[in-house]
Amino acid sequence: MAKITYEKPIVEMQGDEMTRVLWDWIKEILIEPKVALKTEYYDLGLVCRDETDDRVTFEAGEAIKRLGVGVKCATITPNNQRKEEYNLKRLYPSPNGTIRAILDGTVFRTPILVKGITPYIPTWTAPITIARHAYGDVYKATDVLVNDACKAELVVTKTNGEVEKYPVHDFKGAGVLQGMHNTDKSITAFARSCFNFALSAKQDLWLGTKDTISKVYDGRFKAIFADLYENEFKSAYEKAGIKYEYTLIDDCVARIIRSNGGMVWACKNYDGDVMSDMLATAYGSLAMMSSVLVSPDGNYEYEAAHGTVTRHYYKYRAGEETSTNPVATIFAWSGALRKRGESENNTALMQFADDLERATVQTIESGYMTGDLALLFKAEGITPKKLNSRDFLNAIAERL
Ligand code: NAP
Ligand code: MG
Repeated sequence: MAKITYEKPIVEMQGDEMTRVLWDWIKEILIEPKVALKTEYYDLGLVCRDETDDRVTFEAGEAIKRLGVGVKCATITPNNQRKEEYNLKRLYPSPNGTIRAILDGTVFRTPILVKGITPYIPTWTAPITIARHAYGDVYKATDVLVNDACKAELVVTKTNGEVEKYPVHDFKGAGVLQGMHNTDKSITAFARSCFNFALSAKQDLWLGTKDTISKVYDGRFKAIFADLYENEFKSAYEKAGIKYEYTLIDDCVARIIRSNGGMVWACKNYDGDVMSDMLATAYGSLAMMSSVLVSPDGNYEYEAAHGTVTRHYYKYRAGEETSTNPVATIFAWSGALRKRGESENNTALMQFADDLERATVQTIESGYMTGDLALLFKAEGITPKKLNSRDFLNAIAERL
């Protein structure tokens, strides 16, 4: 059978440790037999990052800007222990941080659902995607410890030298104080990524903030989202039959819990930090969480939400078999291939992405899975069989 082809290459970013091993197996067993892969390859493994003084990471980010679609393997963010282990020239920053800064993007995390692994909230039958605004607020704030009685003010100095002062608090004794900010540019980029993502997923977009209390600050998020919706996205949303909704964050949380899922939830930085861990846990497993970085101008970088699974890698290196879950990495590949298919109106490629995801889900649902899932799996009449990573990939390939 002829392999599926496409025009524009996908940016392929190889990574580290166990996920680096899975990466090659996924290509060999699941993708290359059916698709004539055309990628621009960047090795973001720690060895190559060190050899190139991290230039390779910047080049990969620029390549995503140029080619529009990328797929990334998990990578080590080095600490001092890694510096010694890999004999590094210096402590390189997180590749995800570098690429996010180049693309100015927002990260969307979506759980992969299978029958037999029931969320802690059983009514969540469709995935909830969290979009976390990854700039500013308490993550870039100035904290001050106040030791004694004092008058605290916010001071704003304009470019023309004019000074404005705003009262914060008259301290009668010790306490704490915090100054934080965000920018219209960053909030707008976040909003645009969210509107684009929800439109492409054909799901409703929700935004929740506390604008009743934080009238100016949270009010700015609400206003920027509302403006963008009215001026740029409304007619496309109406045509797609989806909605944009703003609610107070407390009401939003209550409604999410009561819902069946199936929406994109835009969160301010802190809310997204907290809620994404809650969602990942509630849906079952970090190894079943997919992740995509979307830039405001519509470039996509797909990856798994988990790390390089170091403990399994050390076992693998010692010659032992491991049962490491490749599902989120498979979905990173299917996401990138589908997106490339969409951009070229390539039905065969989009169909392959759908088939690959369905074969993966059905393999698990029929009782064949990796060890982490076998611990969670419960379905009447099916005893879960724990496979090693390669056998699991082969089982998917057979079904595919
Ligand atoms: P991790 O690699 O996600 O693994 C933590 C633990 O979760 C594993 O030891 C394993 O538990 C379980 N797990 C995660 N993914 C799994 C999978 N696919 N299949 C089976 N079990 C899985 O996180 P970490 O150990 O904190 O970090 C390891 C390295 O990854 C670090 O160097 C870090 O810098 C990097 N990291 C990269 C990214 C990224 O590139 N996006 C994200 C996070 C971390 P058991 O050992 O109990 O089986
Ligand atoms: Mg967190």
